[in-house]
Amino acid sequence: MFCTHCGKQMEPTARFCPTCGAVSQPVIVGRAPLPGQLTRPRYPRLIAGVCSGLAVHYGWDLSLVRVICALMIVLTGVGLFAYLAAWIIIPEAPYTLPERSSAGSPGAIV
Ligand SMILES: [Zn+2]
Repeated sequence: MFCTHCGKQMEPTARFCPTCGAVSQPVIVGRAPLPGQLTRPRYPRLIAGVCSGLAVHYGWDLSLVRVICALMIVLTGVGLFAYLAAWIIIPEAPYTLPERSSAGSPGAIV
């Protein structure tokens, strides 16, 4: 592994460059979705996150998207294939770490 700042070789597990002190960039394995790309978020989701992804990406109301999706599946039947296709085509959003808050952990049971 090489430092992205100064180019010197550094330990693969090193978090900081020993030469210049720059923080080593995390290596992303696989294909990460681009920022702004349509993804299926892990939360909130009911089945596969297709409706949630569309609502988040285009700024639509999530409940409205789900109602329209359910109506298309029930009334036309085409919506089911569209949903399954979107489930396969749209990449899943990567796992994200929770935001660190300065006021302690919000989910802690005291
Ligand atoms: Zn360096």
